[in-house]
Amino acid sequence: MSSNLVIVYHRQPYEEVEVDGRIEYRENKSPNGIVPTLKSFFGRFEKGAWVAWKQAEDPAHPDFERVIEIDDQYGKYTVSRLPLTAEQITSFYHVSSKEAFWPILHGFKERYNYDPVDWPTFREVNWAFAEAAAAEAADGAVVWIHDYNLWLVPGYLRKLRPDVKISFFHHTPFPGADMFNVLPWRNEILESLLACDLVGFHIPRYVNNFVSAARSLLEVDTKTREKVKPELASQTSALSEQSVPTQITFDGRTINLQASPVGVDVDYIEQLVAREETAAKVKQIKQELGDAQLILSVGRTDYTKGGIEQLHSYERLLETRPDLRGKLRLMHVSVAANSNMVAYEEIQSELEHIAGRINGRFGSLDWQPLALLSRAVPFDQLVAYYRAADVAWITPLADGMNLVCKEYGAARADGDGVLVLSEFAGAAVELYSAVITNPFSHKSMDSAISLALEMPEEERRERMKLMREIIRKQDVRFWAEDQMQAFDSADLPKTMIV
Ligand code: UDP
Repeated sequence: MSSNLVIVYHRQPYEEVEVDGRIEYRENKSPNGIVPTLKSFFGRFEKGAWVAWKQAEDPAHPDFERVIEIDDQYGKYTVSRLPLTAEQITSFYHVSSKEAFWPILHGFKERYNYDPVDWPTFREVNWAFAEAAAAEAADGAVVWIHDYNLWLVPGYLRKLRPDVKISFFHHTPFPGADMFNVLPWRNEILESLLACDLVGFHIPRYVNNFVSAARSLLEVDTKTREKVKPELASQTSALSEQSVPTQITFDGRTINLQASPVGVDVDYIEQLVAREETAAKVKQIKQELGDAQLILSVGRTDYTKGGIEQLHSYERLLETRPDLRGKLRLMHVSVAANSNMVAYEEIQSELEHIAGRINGRFGSLDWQPLALLSRAVPFDQLVAYYRAADVAWITPLADGMNLVCKEYGAARADGDGVLVLSEFAGAAVELYSAVITNPFSHKSMDSAISLALEMPEEERRERMKLMREIIRKQDVRFWAEDQMQAFDSADLPKTMIV
């Protein structure tokens, strides 16, 4: 009970590596992403703790360390590891979270799988997270909970520790009432979230959706500021709402609401791009391309990412524009899931099938129109592809934010390159100077990629300039400052904040 900031996130904040039979805790391989950003908050509080799960069939085994102390570049902090069995992990993470919640959060009712959900296990695991957080939190501490697989933690924690300040950040989209209310546990989930002091989302639309779901089920009142906060309002397109609720009251309590889009580490990406190794790799990529244009697509193999729809559009492009054959190359990185879920395996084989067909139909001895990569490209290599790509083609059907598109902009210190971005990525609210497309429309997809490939240099540079200004301004540090301000305005204890 001694930490002023307790971060509750399902993943551990490091990678475990076995060296000579001993486990060492190493910095996560990917230096980008949310984990390092969250860890950087420890530097702002007197003492920090992190709660995550760790698979353990026998938590009583002497080798299982329940709590470990880490001392790394982010300072000293405690990691409380919740022992979960393989069955609990499957049930709580792969079934309830990925098969039931994930499709609903992203608007795919037809993929929602209710039957295998074991709700008592979901509750039990969330309760265990709440207990672990309660055990770590000092009097009046800030407990910061992340993402939908921990939906019930705020409600349990409020019962266990009425004194702590609870903040919850949603990293996925939040759907409107018509979609959210498909979940039979909707009231329990919402009541738990409304036990927070602060609930954060990436963009105003998700805040509005959350409020619409709450209004449809519970007696709530809201307070709405007329305009979105100036940092966003000055740069928003017609896609974002002009007003957004900032507070919601329920059961005699007021909960602050926040729209704050997470950004990327622009300085770090620019440093990587400036390295000699990166320049050499870019040169090599360009040499291999000859005079062909490189289109780059990067994401995970997930129905939300729209990979199949994109490959279909590429096939139509090559079909209708014979003049482009031999002049293009699509590098489609779709990192395969390792969760053995049927839905993901089906998409993987569909992607492979379409990619094979495209290469078979249009390829020749000296030209391969498409490279499909199913394994993750290390980030230091990825930035070279960002830098070399004429077009980044990022067209998810639904995506809470999407960092790849921001990384692409951050990597283009040279000021060139075109981003084609789905309007259903949260980032589209900020990156209005991208070529915005609707991936559900063939017409929109096809015209967007053609426009990008043919865009004059002056226009490319103008759009990229605007985009980079926003990506740089609303970078990951901006998000961190925004979170701290939101903690403040939700009256989270200032004395704890150093
Ligand atoms: N990424 C990577 N190598 C790959 C594919 C993706 O390092 O081959 C990284 C990418 O740079 C980005 C993250 O994975 O930082 C994906 O984040 P995003 O928000 O775009 O999508 P998510 O997977 O979180 O839905």
